[in-house]
Amino acid sequence: MSSYRQSVPYTCSACSHRGAVDTWLVVDVTDRPDLVESISDGSIRRFACEACGARQTATTSLLVGRPGQRPELLWAPEPGADQARSQEQFRMSAFMLDRGWTGIVGQNEAAVMPHEVLYAAVNRDVDADATARSNGTLLALEAGLQRYAAWLDRRATRRHDERMKAGIMALLQATDAARRAVIEEHPELLDDDTEGLIAAMIDVALDEHLPEYADALRQRRLILRRVRERGLDAVLPNPQAGR
Ligand SMILES: [Zn+2]
Repeated sequence: MSSYRQSVPYTCSACSHRGAVDTWLVVDVTDRPDLVESISDGSIRRFACEACGARQTATTSLLVGRPGQRPELLWAPEPGADQARSQEQFRMSAFMLDRGWTGIVGQNEAAVMPHEVLYAAVNRDVDADATARSNGTLLALEAGLQRYAAWLDRRATRRHDERMKAGIMALLQATDAARRAVIEEHPELLDDDTEGLIAAMIDVALDEHLPEYADALRQRRLILRRVRERGLDAVLPNPQAGR
């Protein structure tokens, strides 16, 4: 099995008819290249109500497999599904895709995006676009591409925040001697917006009645401020230097 569709129940938004419609849940572009166009124009999810003919949109998830492209998996969850349901649907779809062409299937290697973004992304090198976007060379002119570009921006911000948070956690756990190495490994710790993130973490710590944790965060914030102002060598001298 590779590309896969199944009969999915729907309730018509116009006449409330309860029917069923054959819906693509998994598309492998190597085995069904003919479906790529219907993904890019969104028609893959549109159908007419069997009772009244009103135009309807499928409410299911869609997994697209693109061997050799970056990333190889594009995943648009079912709109409104909670995370647990969405993860289970991803596992089922990845199982149906049954990729002989690559390694382990995990949600981490899939780019997760809303359906409207997937329409634009299906033909694109998402990694190259992410780089181009951060360099300011990916200009989004048409509406579909604007949504895609906005998604790339949100994804970049989220990844930046995740790296920054990982850096703060590492700094909390590091011994005094290891702090310099942590900051060198997480250069984003020296960005101005670290202040906002640490302030939010301190608020949470105080809400949770963890004053010692809040104090530890304040202390790290102070170290980072000093490093930003005076430089790493002045605040946390390299023990290897001058030997
Ligand atoms: Zn209808």
